[in-house]
Amino acid sequence: MKIVYSPECLEYNSPGHPESPERVKRIYDALKAEGYEFVKPEPATEKDILLVHSEEHYRRVEKGDYESIETPPIDIKYPLLSAGAAIKAMDVAGFALTRPPGHHAGRDTLEGFCYFNNTAIAVRKSGKRTAILDLDTHHGNGTQSIFLGSRDVLYVSLHQAPLYPMTGLKSDGNCLNFPLFPETPEKVYIETLKKAMERIVSFRPDMLAVSMGFDTYEKDPLAGQKVTEKGYRKIGEMISALGIPLFVVLEGGYSEDIGKLCSSFLSGFG
Ligand SMILES: [Zn+2]
Repeated sequence: MKIVYSPECLEYNSPGHPESPERVKRIYDALKAEGYEFVKPEPATEKDILLVHSEEHYRRVEKGDYESIETPPIDIKYPLLSAGAAIKAMDVAGFALTRPPGHHAGRDTLEGFCYFNNTAIAVRKSGKRTAILDLDTHHGNGTQSIFLGSRDVLYVSLHQAPLYPMTGLKSDGNCLNFPLFPETPEKVYIETLKKAMERIVSFRPDMLAVSMGFDTYEKDPLAGQKVTEKGYRKIGEMISALGIPLFVVLEGGYSEDIGKLCSSFLSGFG
């Protein structure tokens, strides 16, 4: 799998913020050492962003007209580049190694370290019948709100509950939620993923978009799931075995081990 990456995504930083440049750098270093091929993204255009977000939201991000410690004002070039990385990953069936993440951003909202919904923008741009599999430990409330009621998109999420953003406690139409208690054993996580995948297969998508978070890791500081380094390889193998054309976009993951976790995950794709 090709890795879509621009070192520019390391340029912005809020000291002490868990969504740090080091996260992506650690993954880059691990994948570079393994000889993966890297391709550079182009920034998304305003037109791309407006496939998902309102013009008002675009202007807010452009002007930095918002205040939040959690999702601090940053130059719009970074959210544009991150959305562009997801689009490029969709084009080359690759992995978007990028920040800021996207799955908490809704049509008119930014929150949870997310400004534009990278995965949603790439899915809309493809125009394909798509299943989105969101494996970040937090529910992708933004992605769900964007696609709720859409006939051509199935949203499927496994996430810890209770946990921020406190949504996704049950399924709603085309949005299938699999909440998991803190400390859920990895075996149960994998069994739940199998069930979720059965729903994806019966939807018969032409494309699979994976919103991949590594904050389900047993040592992640922001959550309490139990996925192991080896478990990520298993998850990668299961996704690969679906045989659906796919792309992957990085969401969260905050432990120091994130490089080897991502490497283990991608090794599952053979
Ligand atoms: Zn997360």
